[in-house]
Amino acid sequence: MARNSIAIDGARFWSTIEASAEIGKGPRGGLARLTLSPADGEVRDLFAEWCTDAGYALTVDKLGNMFARRRGTHDNLPPVVIGSHLDTQAAGGRFDGIVGVLAGLEILRALDDQGIETRRPIEVVNWTNEEGGRFPPPMLCSGVFAGIHELDWALERADEDGTTVADALTAIGYAGDAPVGGRAFDSYFEIHIEQGPALYEAGVKLGLVTGTYVARGMRIEVTGVNAHSGPTPMDRRRNAIVGAASVALEVDRIGLKYADREAKSTVARLEAWPNKPGIISDRATLFVDFRSPDRELTETMEAEIRHALVDCAQRSRTDIAVGDAWSFNTPVFDAELQDLIRGAAAGQGVELMELRSQAGHDAYNIAKIAPSVLIFTPCDEGISHNEAENTCLEDQLPGIQVLAEAVVARANR
Ligand SMILES: [Zn+2]
Repeated sequence: MARNSIAIDGARFWSTIEASAEIGKGPRGGLARLTLSPADGEVRDLFAEWCTDAGYALTVDKLGNMFARRRGTHDNLPPVVIGSHLDTQAAGGRFDGIVGVLAGLEILRALDDQGIETRRPIEVVNWTNEEGGRFPPPMLCSGVFAGIHELDWALERADEDGTTVADALTAIGYAGDAPVGGRAFDSYFEIHIEQGPALYEAGVKLGLVTGTYVARGMRIEVTGVNAHSGPTPMDRRRNAIVGAASVALEVDRIGLKYADREAKSTVARLEAWPNKPGIISDRATLFVDFRSPDRELTETMEAEIRHALVDCAQRSRTDIAVGDAWSFNTPVFDAELQDLIRGAAAGQGVELMELRSQAGHDAYNIAKIAPSVLIFTPCDEGISHNEAENTCLEDQLPGIQVLAEAVVARANR
């Protein structure tokens, strides 16, 4: 028999999801709620109202990270923290990140309903700019909290119009006073839709992330020469777009080559200058990422991509160089918290699948400073970062129930 100590109110949780889905609606039923946009400001205001109406102290730090705190009986102890993000991609879904923040809110409300006190305080955090869609890189503000990036560097990141994070925070009224980081978390829990099809296809409602992919990224710069597209002979052209296109094909080929070992490679962005009709572009920039389950294979892919650049440059008569290369941190999730989730799932009679995460999440950063765990719930067909992203309450509730049991057990430690 399931030991249901915390009565999650599914209808109330779903009503918060629906209210969020009204703010920053995309043209095709999803959300276009880029971080620190007016729509992001609006959903933040709503979240803040829900939290303060329920009596939770709300803290906003200098990067707009929002923390709602439910007191513990031993309130000086470091809090148990549940978090994710309310921002979306430019054509994003209604659940990515949002489920995690609003599940946290629902857990706090459920504890209030039943008058359940916990020893440690429990906080729910909405991290600013998880997506990085407007201000790269993604997971920017949990990264500062975890000491991975500098605060000033994060505040200076600019969008395509030159608006900085600092300006955008001020514009929506979320440049808070609290320092970013510098305080202890007892533990950090993140629940997130899987964004892949494994759970959905297996009909399993809960995923426990036990590992991640080893991922790297690169900015590749292609330099050619401006020229008129009419009179310039073919054999004298140094077209940066042609160089970039051949790089794109090579990167794709290398991912496909190792696809049977779960490798992936992506050209996610291509910029060119002057990028005008009638002119041969002299500059192009590609943003590339690639990943696989094991370090050695990811390193092999990197070596092959770098090697391919030489040939691409020769064929297109351009100069091609790696402008920047980075590795996404490979987090280690906490074994004790994973056991806690396994135990809570068993206690609730919820089947659990162990899997690897293939996308970055704020938990990757927080794992550097606090015991952390990441769990997944299904999303239809695994479609995400798309307005068609979808799920139903029945697919989310088991994960939220398990999360609630685990969080309360940890908070009473
Ligand atoms: Zn997300």
